[in-house]
Amino acid sequence: MKIILMSTHCAICGTEDNAYELYPTNFDNDAFNADVFSARRLPDMVHYRIVQCKQCGLVRSDPVIDQEILKNLYLQSTLTYAKDIPNLRHTYGTYLHKLEKYQPRKEIFLEIGCGNGFLLEEALAQGYRKVLGVEPSQSAIEQAPPLVKDSIINDIMRPGLLTEKVSVICMFQLFDHISDPQAFLAACADALLPSGLILCFNHNVTALSARILGEKSPIIDIEHTFLYSPSTIRELFEKNGYKVLEVGSAWNFVSLLNILRLFPFPRALKLKLIDFVGSSTALGQIRLFLPLGNLYLIAQKM
Ligand SMILES: [Zn+2]
Repeated sequence: MKIILMSTHCAICGTEDNAYELYPTNFDNDAFNADVFSARRLPDMVHYRIVQCKQCGLVRSDPVIDQEILKNLYLQSTLTYAKDIPNLRHTYGTYLHKLEKYQPRKEIFLEIGCGNGFLLEEALAQGYRKVLGVEPSQSAIEQAPPLVKDSIINDIMRPGLLTEKVSVICMFQLFDHISDPQAFLAACADALLPSGLILCFNHNVTALSARILGEKSPIIDIEHTFLYSPSTIRELFEKNGYKVLEVGSAWNFVSLLNILRLFPFPRALKLKLIDFVGSSTALGQIRLFLPLGNLYLIAQKM
């Protein structure tokens, strides 16, 4: 496959060349397969050239693969996190519950990048009248429970995709994969009812773990077009017409197995450790609540 790379620009200031290099690229063409672009796979330390805008500090990949090829990779991607789902539902459900203080209209709830729909079930449990999901991976949708399966649209989020306006939009570990965040936020605003809420949960490039691990951090990954900090994500949402209500670092409920999966051990050692912990019922059930280098943002359509 011939890989054509396109230069990117800062999503906040719009500049192309006003950035310095943090890490040079380290991939070859073999990186472009659907396994690499599958949700929550074992990190493989492959990334584009990573740069940081001199003006606003936003971190991004530059240059990146053509977006049509990328879309096809996501359509073919698979769901690899089935065992983590109870912890993910608990974590994301905790952040969804944070919207209560802003009294959301519990009409239609939309999750973009909903995977097999486990959070759609949680949204129903939290009292939303109707749920919708958007998910490019057909294989993820096939694993959805019957209660929500028919509520999932097999597509990527784009203007005009939905026929109804929604009152809440959520996205978990999705926003840093979006290559045109301005167009994406416009499509979200278009889908939202007036005063509708957005909850965004993704990696924090200024988290302690990211700063200590540097290039070895699992967030320095070919799937991420942009990497946000609490201040850059706030600035981006405000520039795109949203009122930011809350931004902060996020904590995760996580199994010991998943910590091993994310930690930058040499791959052979990592697979052995995962095998060892996975084969022990007691170790396999250990669950911790930790700051794993994520942030959350709650914003309102103005
Ligand atoms: Zn910038």
